[in-house]
Amino acid sequence: MADATSEIRWSLAIHGGAGSMTRDTFDTGAIAAHEAGLASALAAGRAVVEAGGSALDAVTAAVVALEDDPQFNAGRGAVFTYHGTNELDAAVMAGETRAAGAVAGVTHTRNPVRLARAVMEAGPHVFLSGPGADDFARDHGIEQVDPDWFATPERWRQLEELKARQHGWFDAGMKYGTVGAVARDAAGHVAAATSTGGLTGKRWGRIGDSPLIGAGTYADDRAGAVSCTGSGEQFIRAGAAHEICARMRLAGTGASEAAQAVLAEIGTLGGIGGVIVVTPAGETALAFTTPGMFRARADSTGLHEVRIFGDD
Ligand code: ASP
Repeated sequence: MADATSEIRWSLAIHGGAGSMTRDTFDTGAIAAHEAGLASALAAGRAVVEAGGSALDAVTAAVVALEDDPQFNAGRGAVFTYHGTNELDAAVMAGETRAAGAVAGVTHTRNPVRLARAVMEAGPHVFLSGPGADDFARDHGIEQVDPDWFATPERWRQLEELKARQHGWFDAGMKYGTVGAVARDAAGHVAAATSTGGLTGKRWGRIGDSPLIGAGTYADDRAGAVSCTGSGEQFIRAGAAHEICARMRLAGTGASEAAQAVLAEIGTLGGIGGVIVVTPAGETALAFTTPGMFRARADSTGLHEVRIFGDD
């Protein structure tokens, strides 16, 4: 956690998913490639807030970069459903107004976070799903792609591996890679965004916590901004992102303590994962109960970190 929080003008934290990665399962090439992906997404968000832009624009820019990076489970490189398709979920929320936008089951929109943002800003609703969400994207001039754009050989291999095991509904190996960002801008506003392909082998139109406002994503200038990653069902049941904000707002709990308490509660429900939090003062907390979480943060005091493993 950064010192001298009162002096923080802007602050940004991102994640690229919590999961089972350890130094033994990740070779140095993969470590370097993921660190580079995180660093460039952090730079994309940082450029916005450093220039005086909004937290909302910063989290959108960082998440777009992670969606376009095939190493992460969002946009290009999303995991496959049981039927071999990519169905994408995303959400964005502004702490100043508590305006929010979310989409689920998107199959043609290149950057689901841009679509969530358009839902928030241009539509009367908060949450759109399926073909209707892609229609909304088309109506608002948001880039559409052939579904092949999202597919990568590594994610296909993971689906085949899951099917070969012939037990378990989802990817119990937790090869997560959901992405998210939280930021605090120079005006003192916070924002959060999250984007994911969900879980390998998901079916029946399953939607996780990521696009659910209050579960995987939440922002409130009175408390902070939160983006989650992990076993979505338990994050939904805990109302994780809102619960962290509620503890900070109503009980005055610090970001790190609130994050750890809610992750512990999720543990009692049988879930694991991670969260990133930023407070209105610009303090950040990055907490997880998995062996690793792709994560990075920076702020105006000079803090700059890119990390993967628990012992980093
Ligand atoms: N939370 C996401 C979901 O359940 C998965 C992840 O974080 O990787 O869809």
